[in-house]
Amino acid sequence: MTSFDQPYAPINTTALQAGINKDYVTGLLMKLLSTPSPTGYTHHAMNLLKEEAEKLGYTMERNAKGCGIIRVKGSDDTSDRVIALSGHVDTLGAMVRSINSNGTLKLTSLGGFMANSMENEYCIIHTRSGRTYTGTIMTNQPSVHVFSGARDLKREEGVMMVRIDELVHTADDVKKLDIHVGDYVSFDARPVHLPSGFIKSRHLDDKASVAALFGLLHSMKHNQWQPKHDIVMIVTNYEEVGHGASYIPQDITEMIAVDMGCIGDDLTCKETDVSICAKDSSGPYDYFMTNRLIDLAVREGIPHAVDIYPHYGSDASASLRGGNNIRAALIGPGVHASHAMERTHEQAVLNTAKLLAAYIQE
Ligand SMILES: [Zn+2]
Repeated sequence: MTSFDQPYAPINTTALQAGINKDYVTGLLMKLLSTPSPTGYTHHAMNLLKEEAEKLGYTMERNAKGCGIIRVKGSDDTSDRVIALSGHVDTLGAMVRSINSNGTLKLTSLGGFMANSMENEYCIIHTRSGRTYTGTIMTNQPSVHVFSGARDLKREEGVMMVRIDELVHTADDVKKLDIHVGDYVSFDARPVHLPSGFIKSRHLDDKASVAALFGLLHSMKHNQWQPKHDIVMIVTNYEEVGHGASYIPQDITEMIAVDMGCIGDDLTCKETDVSICAKDSSGPYDYFMTNRLIDLAVREGIPHAVDIYPHYGSDASASLRGGNNIRAALIGPGVHASHAMERTHEQAVLNTAKLLAAYIQE
């Protein structure tokens, strides 16, 4: 493989600027954030993206596992590189674990998060027959006027419950609503796009990155440019449980997982940066791809950070663990308080799209 066996050629400083449309990216992001898609229950969000891809003149196919696949032809017919760009549309969420005798629900979590991060959140129960009911997630000691241990109660899955907004007092009342064990529960994302440019919402991980990927498609379409190498965009649907991109189309030679950048402690990323991850819990990312991403960010003047993520795995790690013969890197918009009350800035999403644009034009 030509360029993979040695460091990349010197940087060409004339690559065109991509021109990512902020209103398009943030508009799509707000729509996505308002569409519940807990891991395993992503079909509504996938349908939204399929329609969006078609509006832009692309085709989004679904593979057997349900991932969305969008192919964009590269301009260089002699290139042997096929670059995958992945983002995951599945989010944290929960499932009904059991129905309590007082008509509330016990939950089991989908994905890894602190029990206190879902406390007091509004939620939707999605029954398997297609009905929806609203409720609120709380502890089983939800009032300080009644429960002397309410303040000190350790927040963990076993003490959390859903209070359903229906007249239910027994488990049978709940079953009459057609709510059963195994039904999906999504959290109210409460997306807000503020005049300061901040976007605060649950599930910016990883809908902010999916919006960045579609911003790239939008830019190619409206500014009429083409990537140099063939691109395969992959929208995955099981990342939060670890196996999102475990299988990828076999012509892919390299993959950039686009997923939220970590912020906090000794990490240097800000909410306006695109974060380039050198290493996470799955080990180091590809040396040459990571170098290239850093060099391009510097060359294009894109605000960025290079960081180590101490507790993290990505769809690129899932792909490598799945046995795919690829090199892989990880970048994404900086997201504060990830898997809790998240916030990023529109600049981080645009900077992510810009860095991807630079990478696929070289
Ligand atoms: Zn993620």
